[in-house]
Amino acid sequence: MLVSHLEDREVALYDDLLERLVKKNSSKILLVILDGVGGLPFHPGGGTELEEASTAELDKLARTSALGLHDPIAPGITPGSGPAHLGVFGYDPLRWDIGRGVLAALGIGFDLEKDDLAARGNFATMDDAGNITDRRAGRISSETNAELSALLNGMKIGDVDVIVKTVKEHRAAVIFRGGQFSDNLADSDPQVTGVPAKRVEPLEPGAKASADLANAFAEEANRRLADRSPANTILLRGFARLPDIPSFESRYGMKACAVATYPMYKGLARLVGMDVLDAGESLDTQVETLRKAWGDYDFFFLHYKYTDSRGEDGDFGAKVRAIEDFDRRVPDLVALEPDVVVLTGDHSTPSALKSHSWHPVPLLLRSRYVIPDLMDFNEKNCSRGNLGRMRALEIMPLAMANALRLEKYGA
Ligand code: ZN
Repeated sequence: MLVSHLEDREVALYDDLLERLVKKNSSKILLVILDGVGGLPFHPGGGTELEEASTAELDKLARTSALGLHDPIAPGITPGSGPAHLGVFGYDPLRWDIGRGVLAALGIGFDLEKDDLAARGNFATMDDAGNITDRRAGRISSETNAELSALLNGMKIGDVDVIVKTVKEHRAAVIFRGGQFSDNLADSDPQVTGVPAKRVEPLEPGAKASADLANAFAEEANRRLADRSPANTILLRGFARLPDIPSFESRYGMKACAVATYPMYKGLARLVGMDVLDAGESLDTQVETLRKAWGDYDFFFLHYKYTDSRGEDGDFGAKVRAIEDFDRRVPDLVALEPDVVVLTGDHSTPSALKSHSWHPVPLLLRSRYVIPDLMDFNEKNCSRGNLGRMRALEIMPLAMANALRLEKYGA
């Protein structure tokens, strides 16, 4: 456990308090998440991606904003985008655990239903003795994956439908629908080669029926894949159901929409009950979507992906350009005249690490009621800003306060 019992309780109290204090008005809040925006110098002595990018517009916005840093989960913890987004949306990512199976389904835009059981599937290679020889089946192409998924999709086990969808390369999403399932199940993936796949074991007595179901699927999958090569079996891991999470509207009293282009982020927004708008494929269409919807919502979540993708590529220059591409659209966002702008990342993705990292994330908050720090937007300035350093789940209460959407606590 990362948090002490007391801290857990504090989070719950804070949640309850918020719900009691929320009030409605006509203010509008814009949350911009530049995925993985936080970075590092690529070479010792150099600047970070944000420092090296020419960001006249972002800096203009920052100079009229308060700056700070946030920890998506806790110091030292590198988060995935799922929990990191939940944190910025104000849901404690340690309390609301989104399992890997659910993330896999969300990531391909699959519309999970409340009672579905989802797992990640890995197409793998098994020898004649039944031992796994390659857990990724040589990373088959996504096209081959689509053929294999089609072979397994639509399987019926008793009253349960099994849906198998391609994710990418050897990865698939496996969804069981039409029953009451437990996700308290161990993986069938043995994690090593030279041994057989494990049987899916229940981790609590009530999960036995679900384990039997998963094993029945695995057996039938082996039959259907028997003459295939190199992918002749499928390993299951990360069994999960949708968390029963309170909706954004019930929690904050705001009608919220998401303007994102990637399925995963649309899925995360849908998970908390935001309306997911058809935002096209580019930042241009996203901004246009935002403009058109501006009269219809109180809260707007704009997701920008390329800062993260280029960071994960380890391409410092490309991440700098991704930041600069975003910078050019900042005036269009400011022109909408949101009462509160929150601009931050879900986590850091330094090009130097080619991956997500634990570094705290630059945060900017603008409203009529902040004390501007009069500084450009980058990691160092944010570390000196008057918002200080906070946990991601404290961002939403601050945004709400700045929108004058929270009552006073006590007399
Ligand atoms: Zn991310």
